[in-house]
Parts: sequence; C-alpha cells; structure tokens
Amino acid sequence: MRRVCWFRSDFRLSDNHMLHRVLKDASGDDDIEFVFWLNPKYCEPFETRHDYFFATMKQFMQELADQEIGLRTIVADSAEAFVEQLGQLDALYFNAEYVEPFKQRDDAVIEALGGDVLVIRLLDRHLFAPNAFTKKDGTPYKVYTPFKKAVYAETPPQPYDVDVARLKQLATKQHELPDELKQQFDRCERSWKALGEEAAMKRLRDFVEHRVTSYAEDRDIPAIAGTSRLSPYLRTGVLSIRTVAAAVLEARQSTGRDTYYDELLWREFYYMIMVQFPGLKDRPFNDKYKHLDWEDNDDQFEKWCRGETGYPIVDAAMRQLNETGWMHNRLRMIVASFLTKHLLIDWRKGERYFERKLIDYEAASNIGGWQWAASVGTDAVPYFRIFNPTIQSEKFDADGTFIRKYVTELAEVDRKAIHFPDPSDRDGYIEPIVDHKAARARALERFKDAQ
Ligand SMILES: Cc1cc2nc3c(=O)[nH]c(=O)nc-3n(C[C@H](O)[C@H](O)[C@H](O)COP(=O)(O)OP(=O)(O)OC[C@H]3O[C@@H](n4cnc5c(N)ncnc54)[C@H](O)[C@@H]3O)c2cc1C
Repeated sequence: MRRVCWFRSDFRLSDNHMLHRVLKDASGDDDIEFVFWLNPKYCEPFETRHDYFFATMKQFMQELADQEIGLRTIVADSAEAFVEQLGQLDALYFNAEYVEPFKQRDDAVIEALGGDVLVIRLLDRHLFAPNAFTKKDGTPYKVYTPFKKAVYAETPPQPYDVDVARLKQLATKQHELPDELKQQFDRCERSWKALGEEAAMKRLRDFVEHRVTSYAEDRDIPAIAGTSRLSPYLRTGVLSIRTVAAAVLEARQSTGRDTYYDELLWREFYYMIMVQFPGLKDRPFNDKYKHLDWEDNDDQFEKWCRGETGYPIVDAAMRQLNETGWMHNRLRMIVASFLTKHLLIDWRKGERYFERKLIDYEAASNIGGWQWAASVGTDAVPYFRIFNPTIQSEKFDADGTFIRKYVTELAEVDRKAIHFPDPSDRDGYIEPIVDHKAARARALERFKDAQ
C-alpha cells in the first residue's frame, strides 16, 4: 500500500499524531511518503512569518535527511492540482486544521481525492477537539472560566510515540527540491536562532526546570525571560502541545505551573470559539460593536506600526515586534489597547498587522486577543477599563530596562522619567501623538454610543 503523510504546520518527528498513526496502520511492505504542498499564493507578500516558516521547514528537511527520509514538495495552486500530482495512493494522513481558511483547504483536498482513498484526519494541534466541551444545554462555552473548569475535569492526552527506526525503513528517501521551494528558501533573510526540534525541547526543559515555578510573577515583566517563548514552535508544529502540557503538568505543583497550564487553555478556548463561531476574523463576536464608529487615520496607524507614538512602552513593544517577529504578551495587550482605544482604530487593522509580523501568528489566538483588548470579543475586557500606557509601563517595566533596549533615543533618561518623558527629555524622540486623557474620554464616549 502507498500511504502518504501530508505535512503542513507539524514539522517534527516526535509526538506527531500523523506519524504515530501511519506506523500503526502500515505493514512491512508498505511505502510511506512524506509530502508538503507549496501553494505560491500563500507566499505573497513574503512577510516575517514566511521567513521563519521556511527557515524552520529547511531545518526540518535537514533533520529528515539525517535520517535518510525525504519530504517531497508539490507545487500547486489548487486542491485539484495538488491531488493530481499526488499520483496513485491508498491512504492520505494529516493532522487536522480546524480554523479557516485551512479547514476549507483540507476539505477541498478530500473532495478532490474522490471516495477511493482512505483519509485519516487527526487531532494534533490542540489538546481537545473543538466540540469536546459544551454547556449543559449543548451550546458552546462563551466564557473562559467555566470552559476551563470543564477542561480541568479531563486528563489531557499523553504524547504519542513515534518509532523513527521503523519509519526510516518504510519511508521514501531523498527528493529533488523544486525551484519554487529553493526560491522561498533563498528569500529567507533573517538569521533565526534555535530552530528545530532539539532546540525546542531544550527550551521546554529549561523552562520547566528553572522558570515555571515563578511564571505567575515573572510572566508580566517584558525585560526578563519570564515566559516560555514556545509560541513559534507551537505555531510551526516543531513542538507538540501534548509534549508541552505533559512536561508542565509533571513539574512540581506551584502557582506558576497552574497559571501556565491555564494559558495553554486560553489557546484551546480561542480556537474552540473560532470553530464554533465562524467568521470572527472580519466581525466582532459581540454584535453590539458591529457598527462602532472607528477613526480612519492612516498617519496615526503608520506611526503605531513603526513604534512612533511618543508613548515609550508602546513604541518599544512595536519595535520588538518589527525587529524580532515576537512580542511579549503584556505588551500585546498594551499596544492593542492603545490602537483600539487611544487611537480608536479598528482592531481588524491591528490584527492584520500582527498577522504580517508575528512568527507565532495563530489566527484564533490573535483574533481572540485583539477582540479581547478592543472590548468587542467574547469574555473581553470591559470597554471602560482603558489601559493607561504610562501606568502599565511603571508597573511592568519599572526601571525602564525594556524601553531602553528598543527605544534607544531614551537610553539616557532616568527610570522615573522614562515612562512618559517631559518635552526636555525627548531629545530625538517623538512627541506623543495623542493626549491620554482626551483619548480616553473620546473612547469612552464612542463605545457608549455603540451600546
Ligand atoms: C492582541 C494579542 C494578540 C495575540 N496573538 C497571538 C498569536 O498570534 N499567536 C499566539 O500564539 N498567541 C497570541 N497571543 C497570546 C500570547 O500573547 C502569546 O501566546 C504569548 O505571548 C506567546 O509567548 P510565550 O510562548 O512566551 O507565552 P507563555 O506565556 O509562555 O505561554 C505559553 C503558551 O500558552 C499559549 N498562550 C499564552 N497566552 C495566551 C493567550 N492569551 N491566548 C492564547 N494562547 C496563549 C501560547 O501557545 C503560549 O506559547 C496574543 C495575545 C494578544 C493580547
């Protein structure tokens, strides 16, 4: 039998549900082939996340080559063309995507295959199926805390073992790289550190051994490595969510450990919401805010994107995003609040900017996070709780270490003044583009009008 494993965002050998399953099904004389579908449409424009994605893929192909396993890349711009190039096969295996537009892509491939091929679509990117938990009346949860309580009653799934030696025996060997893939590899300009499974596992182990216990306190301080920084690995599938959950839950009980598991459940919650309530990339969960009167101010939006708002913590955060492709969670909340409340710019513009720039972009978490900060989502922050960026800065970057790292114009400003420098301390740094008090009042009024 010819069994094909379709890799997408699951660039790893260990704890990979698809690989575990194909090995379970395969017998001695079966062929297993690994494929990847390169759709040139998804590579334009080539953003930071593409750079990271293809650098990760290249690393994975190297890891496979070390095991003498090939990954065949099929270049196609439609499901039909992809299926045609797959050739004769008996079974197609892949780890399910549940969120649009990828679920639709997978559906289209199944349709194009017709009924003769066995399709094995598996839960892998998440701990639980999107419909695993419902309220007593059978409807989906809309609030995180009761959802979390329901999840806590379940044991999360354990990692799947993958017999790599056996895989080596059955899997096809090297494949030629198509020019289109070489071109994407050539477009990767950044030098990413710590790519691949080994580096990811090392980071996980280091976090569990040294930092998870203090996670609850440290996670809000952007100047220190208080969070796990595993999100890019989870995004590209270099690390499995089951492996992360198991490693953390095996650690000694602490508030940090429990808080961390709760964060993994936010990821589960937002993806469940996206699946149960389709279309949230374009509309707010809360209908009340469908017609909120957003400001159309391209100049201010551009300044926010570049990190030139005159609010040091906002600018440092945006520069971190632009320079590294990642932003600390506390800062994501601060800049999203600033864009949607202080500048009253539509959350969708911010969501799309993050999509372009983040190497850990997950539609569900990003849309969930943006709608939360803009007060238009499910279980969102109430609209009248508007973050004061200066107070947030004083609280979470008390001595200004993080600001100084990215807003170098303020390197010499002292720890007290740095959060909102006086005009005399702004030499070489921008004036604030809005006044906090006036912006706050305008936002309150606009949101009230929408009630
Ligand atoms: C406006 C906004 C946009 C966001 N966009 C994304 C995104 O595109 N991709 C993304 O993975 N996360 C997103 N988040 C959630 C969170 O900021 C990141 O998951 C986190 O900063 C990643 O860093 P870490 O791995 O060090 O997190 P840790 O604090 O170590 O958390 C561990 C893991 O838990 C999950 N997690 C943590 N917090 C959240 C959360 N609030 N929502 C959902 N999952 C969470 C992530 O998978 C993360 O890797 C967003 C949050 C906001 C407020």
